[in-house]
Amino acid sequence: MKAASPFSFPVSPATAAKLAKLGLTRDADLVLHLPLRWEDETHITPIRDLLPGQSAQVQAVVRDAKVAYRPRRMLTVTMEDASGVLGLRFLNFYPSHLKLFQPGESFRCMGEVRGGFLGLEMVHPRFAKADESTPLPAQLTPVYPTTAGLGQATLRKLVARSLEAPISDTLPADWLAKLKLPDLESSIRLLHQPPLDCALSELESRRHPAWQRLAFDELLAQQLSLATSRRQRQSLRTTPLPAKQQLTTAFTRQLPFDLTPAQTHAWQEISSDLNRPHPMRRLLQGDVGSGKTVVAALTCLQAIENGQQAAFMAPTEILAEQHFRKLAPQLSALGVRCAWVSGSQKKSERTAAWQAISAGEIDLAFGTHALFQEAGSFDRLGLVVVDEQHRFGVGQRLALMHKGTEPHQLMMSATPIPRTLAMSFFADLDVSTIDSLPPGRTPIMTKLVSAARRDDVLERVREACLAGGQTYWVCPLIEESEKLQLQTAQDTYAALVAQLPELRIGLVHGRLKSAEKQAVMAAFQAHQIDLLVATTVIEVGVDVPNAALMIIEHAERMGLAQLHQLRGRVGRGSRESVCVLLYQTPVSELARARLKVIFELTDGFEIARQDLLLRGPGELIGHRQSGLPMLRFADLERDVALLESARDLAQRCLSHHPDITARHVERWLGSRQALAGS
Ligand code: ADP
Ligand code: MG
Repeated sequence: MKAASPFSFPVSPATAAKLAKLGLTRDADLVLHLPLRWEDETHITPIRDLLPGQSAQVQAVVRDAKVAYRPRRMLTVTMEDASGVLGLRFLNFYPSHLKLFQPGESFRCMGEVRGGFLGLEMVHPRFAKADESTPLPAQLTPVYPTTAGLGQATLRKLVARSLEAPISDTLPADWLAKLKLPDLESSIRLLHQPPLDCALSELESRRHPAWQRLAFDELLAQQLSLATSRRQRQSLRTTPLPAKQQLTTAFTRQLPFDLTPAQTHAWQEISSDLNRPHPMRRLLQGDVGSGKTVVAALTCLQAIENGQQAAFMAPTEILAEQHFRKLAPQLSALGVRCAWVSGSQKKSERTAAWQAISAGEIDLAFGTHALFQEAGSFDRLGLVVVDEQHRFGVGQRLALMHKGTEPHQLMMSATPIPRTLAMSFFADLDVSTIDSLPPGRTPIMTKLVSAARRDDVLERVREACLAGGQTYWVCPLIEESEKLQLQTAQDTYAALVAQLPELRIGLVHGRLKSAEKQAVMAAFQAHQIDLLVATTVIEVGVDVPNAALMIIEHAERMGLAQLHQLRGRVGRGSRESVCVLLYQTPVSELARARLKVIFELTDGFEIARQDLLLRGPGELIGHRQSGLPMLRFADLERDVALLESARDLAQRCLSHHPDITARHVERWLGSRQALAGS
């Protein structure tokens, strides 16, 4: 049986499969498959006028073609026109290439001109058989994003077919006039086939009004889709958990401090969410050390005082365990029954924990994602708290959703999300922000020190520890190999033990058994260890206020978010805190830029914004993007104003123009929409 082509014109199954790889499964997708760049093939340059570094097209005849073997196997072709001679070089070629370049045959070649050993040449030019009478295109030639085995010529033809039909606008003309945006049809046609007088630089920088229109539509589609899934959530029902002020009040009363106004505000938002009959999906963001844990504990207590169970999930065992050790005693004092589930727990302990949880004898379960990946189940799960949510993959969070009936969810993140990102990718969540640190913190001083001055740094560590302080020594991140990373940590530990014999030194890394890790962390917490050598496992959440000095080795290898997180482990008490970033020269340009940012800035939001500038949004939001419509045309830094208008317009469309909403989402997301809504 032959599958029907998803396109309105014939496309071979092999080609259709390649198009599908690019996400192109219907005519409308091809229409929106816009060029990456354009090439000017509208005129021919005589060989004599070619300049190195320039991209040009020549019309020439083959004089000679041969396979050379030195310095490596390659096809070299000598071309000539009336004005001069040009070499072509192909490092990858098929025997058919050699046959094609018969002496006397006439070709058009397009590529970058380089000054070669024997005169000017082009390496891997694009070429086509053509003579003087072959007409030149009247327009710039689009170059499309493509995939292996799908040539530009084929793609161009298919896109051209898709453009034969008229393109209807999804937005009314008077809206566009207000937004000062051009109509869709002319924008799309212009980008596929820019007229010759169109400034290429403006097109390429994507500031051209046609690009702005596309970026706007894309952002609008994203806003509509996220806002829709948010509205769908509003239609889901769950058990409301009103504030009874029993456990929560008792808890705040026993805290040694008052909540900051920022914490109080966030807590009020959460507390009133819980009282609604719809599942909460709230992101609590706040810089490292801003005090999110207390707010999370209050959230759990409100669920528990309503007779529900709560789960408190952290991305690493160290962190999950720390939460458990720190909160369980405080909460048990209030009569809350706590348990702990971890992947590395003894089987018998874990089984016992699960038994108690599913029998409803536990009110609050702490753990890693093991909480949701194992067969165990809750009796009446009403709330899930996910700490450091950006560290979890989408799959893990989905698994969580399928346990129990739509519990409320509080996600926490110390990787502050710049406003534009929050507005776009997180538009389906409610966001609370703790935007100030608790009082009494002394700012952290950051120092950049070359690794050549390691001895001075050792001296400083010795002094700080002998004066009663504690220190973290963070070992370098070795991305290529976990084994090597472990080795490095052990070597660093051995070296420091030898160099600083008067200090009590501990080592913690990801490969330790849970109990061992816990023992080391507890000893550090109790100040039985002065210097803690650690891998980046301590990056998230670890809280030892007496530790005021941190040394980070090979800081140039680490990302901004990671450096900021690590640095946030100090500066938690009233001691003057210092973070020393040791770097090894030479430092790449990107690493230099990162070190400059972390040296100059302490505000996590500002650092995240710089990170976004340096890396783009893809990496910053991590796994979050899978399943969500990614932005192809819009740029969150450049197009903030567009994003804001798109957000406003999305609300208006959803409330008053379901027809426009449906058409717009269908055009942009089509089949991908199902994913976005989940
Ligand atoms: P994070 O937001 O990074 O998770 P934590 O919740 O670990 O921060 O809090 C950091 C430290 O600040 C903890 O030692 C906590 O006890 C303390 N803390 C939290 N809230 C306050 C407050 N309102 N006043 C003083 N200290 C606070
Ligand atoms: Mg935390």
